[in-house]
Amino acid sequence: METPENDRLHGACHCGRVRVTLPADCAGVIACHCTDCLRLHGNFFALLAADRRDVRWAGEEHIEWYRSSPENERGFCRHCGSRLAKRPVTGDRLMVSAGLFADLPGRRVVKNLWAEQCPPWGVVPPVGPLTPEAFVATALAGPIESPTAQYGYALRAASGNPRPPGIIALTWITAKDPEERARIRAHSRQNVQDFLAEPGFISIVTGFTGLRGFTVTAWEDEAAMQRALSQHHATAMRELFGQNFVASVWTSVWTPTRVNRLWVRCPSCGALEDVGDDHRACTRCHAPLPARPAYW
Ligand SMILES: [Zn+2]
Ligand SMILES: [Zn+2]
Ligand SMILES: [Zn+2]
Repeated sequence: METPENDRLHGACHCGRVRVTLPADCAGVIACHCTDCLRLHGNFFALLAADRRDVRWAGEEHIEWYRSSPENERGFCRHCGSRLAKRPVTGDRLMVSAGLFADLPGRRVVKNLWAEQCPPWGVVPPVGPLTPEAFVATALAGPIESPTAQYGYALRAASGNPRPPGIIALTWITAKDPEERARIRAHSRQNVQDFLAEPGFISIVTGFTGLRGFTVTAWEDEAAMQRALSQHHATAMRELFGQNFVASVWTSVWTPTRVNRLWVRCPSCGALEDVGDDHRACTRCHAPLPARPAYW
């Protein structure tokens, strides 16, 4: 699904022959202080990172690509010289110059790269506390991968329901491309709102590693889950089965073989307390215990 135009950031080179748009939720601003960027940009390279397939160029015939290292090419406008982007020779990422965008409301530097190479006269911009959205965008921008492990991000949304889970739902879903991933995330945000409105909901841990999303959702019982899934989730399922949407998906519902004790350490004497009955004083030293955490 195409991202609507008003969800995109619009940039242009100095002479206006090259124009570019990016999804508004792309990661950034990232400051690269490496010696290549210093030489090419005169200072650090302030960039927005996006998936190459999400970047739309106009006037691409005016871009000259220069191989700045064995791994990377740099694009500049051959008329005005504006530095436009860094493009790794292999891989899906594209780093577009933040300076091309007249207006980046609410954006700040979320990451410094190679700060140790910053020259003595240079400045490493402060990285502020990240909003959850900036954190997710940054995590998605640079997924770390090894042959056996993929990294991503996770988040938990909890209702405060203290009861033990009667059932747990485990699901995963893979997107064909980053646009589908954005679409899955949009559905997921809506689903979580429905879940939080259901009294029998306990909590969800959900996230993405690369193009694979997962959920671990705890409920008091199956009826609670069915009520919540009859809301927006039913719409998402119709899209999934009725349209060419998502590459693969698996869902499951589990009932516990055993629900073990929930241990909390007493802050005064250091003993581990079984707080399954939600008592609030240490049985050894009688000091108050912290509130019992949710089971999930
Ligand atoms: Zn230009
Ligand atoms: Zn650099
Ligand atoms: Zn104690």
